[in-house]
Amino acid sequence: MIENRRKFLKKSAGFIAGSGIVSSFISSYSNKKASAESEDHPKKKRIRWGMVIDMRKCIDGCVKCIDACHEKHNVPDFGNPKEEIKWIWKNEYKKVFPSKNQQFLEEGTKQKPFLSLCGHCANPPCVPVCPTGATFQMPDGIVEMDFHRCIGCRFCMAACPYGSRSFNWRDPRPALKSITSQYPTREKGVVEKCNFCSERLVKGLQPACVETCPEEVLTFGNLYDKDSEIRNILKKNPTIQRKPELGANPSVFYIT
Ligand code: SF4
Repeated sequence: MIENRRKFLKKSAGFIAGSGIVSSFISSYSNKKASAESEDHPKKKRIRWGMVIDMRKCIDGCVKCIDACHEKHNVPDFGNPKEEIKWIWKNEYKKVFPSKNQQFLEEGTKQKPFLSLCGHCANPPCVPVCPTGATFQMPDGIVEMDFHRCIGCRFCMAACPYGSRSFNWRDPRPALKSITSQYPTREKGVVEKCNFCSERLVKGLQPACVETCPEEVLTFGNLYDKDSEIRNILKKNPTIQRKPELGANPSVFYIT
C-alpha cells in the first residue's frame, strides 16, 4: 500500500500542483488546466478521479474516515439529525442501494452500515440545475462547490439522487469543535458536500478518508489510468455503483 501511495503521489505530482484553500486552488487549477490544454501535448494524461470502497473490510462502529474528513473540512456538528451536515457517513444498505434486489442478500451485508459520499458522477444531475454555476464539474471529474456563488436555492439537493448534499440552515461556525485554516468555513444558507479532497490532491496527497482508514477500505485513483491500483481492483473484483439505472454514473464503486 505504501508503494502504491508513493506511485499515486508521483503520478499526481506530474500533472497537478498548487496549494491553498478551495477558491484559490480552483482558479489556479483551472488556469493550469486551460494552459495545459492549449499545449497540444500528445502524452497528456486524462484524469477521472474515482474511489473503490471495499465494504468487506469496513469495521462496524469505526468512524475514523468520517472524523478525519469532517475535521479537515470544517464540517459542523449541530447535534440534531434534522440539521445534519455530512460529507461522508454511514447508512443502511437498503438506503444506499434501494434498487438492488435484497431478497437473498447475506444477512451480514444487509445489516452493515455502508459508507456514503458524493459519487462525483460522470453525468452529475446536480450541475445543470444550479442557476449560478456554484456547483460545476472539473476536467478531472470532481464536482466542486463554490460556496460564494451558492444562493441556497437547493435545486442541486433536489437533483442529487443520492442525498449527497447538505444545507446549512443556520451559521455553521458556532457548531465547529475546532477550525482548520486549510479549508474555508461556510455560512448560513449554503449547500456543501464531499469534494474528493481536491484541496489535498493539488498537493499530491490522498483524500483524508483514504489516508486515515486503518483497514485500507478505500482506494482512490485515476479511473482513466489502466495501470492504476484502482483499475487493478476494479479488474479483479465485481463491484456495484449506486442507482446505475439513472445514468448519473458515479465514480464511487463498492465491493460488497
Ligand atoms: Fe451531484 Fe449527487 Fe452525483 Fe455528487 S452524487 S455529483 S452531488 S448528483
